[in-house]
Amino acid sequence: MNPTVYLVIPCYNEEEALPETVRRLTAKLDSMRAQGLANEHSRMLLVDDGSKDKTWQLITQLNQENPYVEGVKLAHNRGHQNALLCGLMAAMESCDCAISLDADLQDDVDALDGFVKKYLEGCDVVYGVRNKRETDTWFKRTTAEGFYKVMKLLGVDVVFNHADYRLMSRRALEGLSEYKEVNLFLRGMVPLIGYRSDYVYYDRHERIAGESKYPLKKMISLALDGISSFSVKPLKLISNFGILVSVLSVLGLLYALVSYFMGWAVSGWTAIVCSIWLLGGLQMLCLGVVGGYIGKIYSEVKARPRYRVEEHLRKDNGSK
Ligand code: UDP
Ligand code: MG
Repeated sequence: MNPTVYLVIPCYNEEEALPETVRRLTAKLDSMRAQGLANEHSRMLLVDDGSKDKTWQLITQLNQENPYVEGVKLAHNRGHQNALLCGLMAAMESCDCAISLDADLQDDVDALDGFVKKYLEGCDVVYGVRNKRETDTWFKRTTAEGFYKVMKLLGVDVVFNHADYRLMSRRALEGLSEYKEVNLFLRGMVPLIGYRSDYVYYDRHERIAGESKYPLKKMISLALDGISSFSVKPLKLISNFGILVSVLSVLGLLYALVSYFMGWAVSGWTAIVCSIWLLGGLQMLCLGVVGGYIGKIYSEVKARPRYRVEEHLRKDNGSK
């Protein structure tokens, strides 16, 4: 049976891009239906993230004219990640799988067929991965790629060059709904859900209209959220640094004592230098220990699901 596919699209001040986006996605859904990749209940769900322009009026109008278009309006601007999660959760009840994409169609819509094909082969999560980033500026490309590398170094499981263009099956969405954290970084959360996943590669285009709604400030805040919500390694670094300084302080101590006995040091210098180094190291070590506990509290507070059962094979042995 053809699946019910929901295209979930967060929109913030996208009045310039929306009409064209909806036109292209309507054609795409038509062609997917013709190929047996989507059924007649498939929809595009436009989430208005508290836009200040005419985005919501447009969505209301499109909803009346176009049988595919559904809309959700957030009461205020909560940012891309929240708007996207809202859309995915709204789609969860009605869809077999949901694909998230941006309103500016920078992500190639022709990749959509590939997503659904992988879903039909049994994948629960399909990640869209950018082939090349030629259309991004040098600055955006370098910072973005650097960010993925730092995340890997910090031990966070993120897919390289994957933004939020991805398909999730209904049960993967149900898995996602169990994550109650408030600081969202969906790219890091989805791999935690598990299940079979695969990749689809695509080229990234220019924005079809309007300008980026992700200024540097929002990019940095997303990156910091990604790091602080997924890694306690920075806390461990403090401990390690504390140990290093303590070790160095012993060397400093030796040097200060030698200076003292050789008569190089002025009176009082040795005691001050020794105490600064030793106390500095110990303080940092103690901070690291406290940090270790804070890290534990942090992961407890997030109350992430501890496991998810994918299959359970039983044998009926007659007992109840
Ligand atoms: N977006 C949103 N809320 C925001 C900022 C952006 O819903 O506060 C949406 C935006 O409408 C677009 C997607 O997130 O559909 C990605 O934004 P954009 O294309 O501006 O980011 P870029 O591609 O420049 O990184
Ligand atoms: Mg964009």
